[in-house]
Amino acid sequence: MVTNTYADRHLRALQLAQACVELGARVRTIGHLTRLPHRQLQRLFFTDPQAIPRGRPPDSPEWYHSANVLYRAAASVFGVRYQRLRRGQFPPAEALISSYRHYLGLCDAEPRISFDRAFDLASHLDGIWIAQSKSFSVAVCPKCNSEHLTAVGGPHIQSNGCPFCKIIQRFRADPRVQMSFPIPPLTDPAQIILGIDLLMDAHREGDGDIPSETQD
Ligand SMILES: [Zn+2]
Repeated sequence: MVTNTYADRHLRALQLAQACVELGARVRTIGHLTRLPHRQLQRLFFTDPQAIPRGRPPDSPEWYHSANVLYRAAASVFGVRYQRLRRGQFPPAEALISSYRHYLGLCDAEPRISFDRAFDLASHLDGIWIAQSKSFSVAVCPKCNSEHLTAVGGPHIQSNGCPFCKIIQRFRADPRVQMSFPIPPLTDPAQIILGIDLLMDAHREGDGDIPSETQD
């Protein structure tokens, strides 16, 4: 049973803060998500002042529309998952953490989207936390059927189209795109052991006897 005393809520906020710290969040981001005071967060989680993530926080509506196609694809992978979880009634902070972990699981190299960026994207998808209104939604590409982020409203904003189609178009010509989606080397077919090979070996070893089915 989920209880809701002050101690329970505080404990859940601390657990959430810990999860955010492990994903590289800034104090400001954790403050928005947990409503814990910055001083307390710094004291509990950032004992080394040098280790506190700093710098200007990202502003996603501006960023997304000028980012290169690889970043827009990465943002879409995160954002589409986040929106699905939200539609499934997941609370926003849980949806954010789960979608970000899902995104990290798909990254081979250094992730293009930081946790703070993911927080900013989620804010603007839902119109919550730091965003007053929604400035992204999820669209389905009529050509490749991929879901991707797209702009909502705003006079200066125009959609850049589907990042996944652009990646497919550029793959042959752009070494950056190729490095992001390396094709695994072809395996020597002689090295692949098929079920039929194992069966043939067993058959030879047994000198033609068919293994008994009565023994386990
Ligand atoms: Zn497409």
